[in-house]
Amino acid sequence: LSALPLDELTAQRDQALRDYEALVRRGLSLDLTRGKPSARQLDLSAGLLDLPTGHTAADGTDCRNYGGLQGLAELREIFSGPLQVPAAQLVAADNSSLSLMHDSIVHAMLGKVPGAERRWADEPRIAFLCPVPGYDRHFALCERFGIEMIPVPMDDQGPDMDVVERLAGGDPQIKGIWCVPKYSNPSGVSYGDETVRRLAAMPTAAPDFRIFWDNAYAVHHLTDTPVEIADILALCAENGHPDRVFVYASSSKITFAGAGVSFFGSSPANVAWLLGHTAKRTIGPDKVNHLRHVQFLRDEEGLAEHMRRHRDLIRPKFDAVEAILAKELGGSGLATWSTPEGGYFISLDVLEGCARRVVSRAGEAGIALTPAGATHPYGDDPRDSTIRIAPTYPELDEVELAISGLAVCVRLVGIEKLLEQAG
Ligand code: PMP
Repeated sequence: LSALPLDELTAQRDQALRDYEALVRRGLSLDLTRGKPSARQLDLSAGLLDLPTGHTAADGTDCRNYGGLQGLAELREIFSGPLQVPAAQLVAADNSSLSLMHDSIVHAMLGKVPGAERRWADEPRIAFLCPVPGYDRHFALCERFGIEMIPVPMDDQGPDMDVVERLAGGDPQIKGIWCVPKYSNPSGVSYGDETVRRLAAMPTAAPDFRIFWDNAYAVHHLTDTPVEIADILALCAENGHPDRVFVYASSSKITFAGAGVSFFGSSPANVAWLLGHTAKRTIGPDKVNHLRHVQFLRDEEGLAEHMRRHRDLIRPKFDAVEAILAKELGGSGLATWSTPEGGYFISLDVLEGCARRVVSRAGEAGIALTPAGATHPYGDDPRDSTIRIAPTYPELDEVELAISGLAVCVRLVGIEKLLEQAG
């Protein structure tokens, strides 16, 4: 559209404005803000509500009682392969991996991580590398604990490793990096093998540098050809940095988002460190829920089969977003978007300086989107161009309505921008 003569562009703007006014008159009320499973996805796990049968784990543990801090071994076995962590180095905990990330930071602040010279609370300054676009709750954790955030650009292989190596190699106050290595939130990018190898191998100025490897979408494939990523834990060990990575995951988007199980995986030293601190805050996790999950998922193949049922429900929504964006915005030069092979999000990039206006226009038309900027540290997307689309929660017809409406907003705001630029 930027190539159009001014009068034609003005005519297009007038049409876009009429379309937008018609959209507002429809009085929609749609929500694409959060990556939540839909009610029909939750129904896939309804069987959990009638489990467990009995209360005894494989080793004879009475799951109703206290204890078993590391979580049921048979549950850890099921997730060991998909998470690329030996079961003996995996912890199964309660319902939220975010709380494990939170606690890891708190424990690192208040108790030295293996290899650290001092507690993070005693450091003059702590910084984390934040590949962008990224997950807003990671950034919120950093803000909560006064951890400075340093944005790092992402490409289709993961974070720009030249930047990561330069920063982590030069500044001992940089203690960590956030990574969502598979079907990343929100770009859908999966890390290439070379990226993972470099993360594991790079020298870091901080002896206690940690990769927060949030593998939230490890088994959340949208295609028949699941993406495989390199084994970060093994690569760290091979490269002489066995304690470098903390792996996180959960069944929030496998079974129940509010009542699943979470996982932490790492080196034996890190696992002992975490459990040592965890022992002070709980006598043990909800093992009845662990047993329920073991009986429901059965084994790795049972887990994969269950994820195919999720895919059958959500794939049509992702396809609808792609089809509508292509039809309404394809070739306009006003937007580009990701076509993820898994995960929960589509990342929509609009013209620079337009994301906030698009989100606000959509909000006025009853289409709630994640606030523009949420994909960046401090809510500040310097280009003001990335919008996160979360299509899983609404029903398919609502997704279609919402994305058609969003496209109207992108068109209007984009053309207005072009007119502004044309003076
Ligand atoms: N990490 C990522 C990357 C996520 O997208 C989400 C959910 N949106 C979470 C963690 C939250 O995980 P949990 O439910 O296990 O706390």
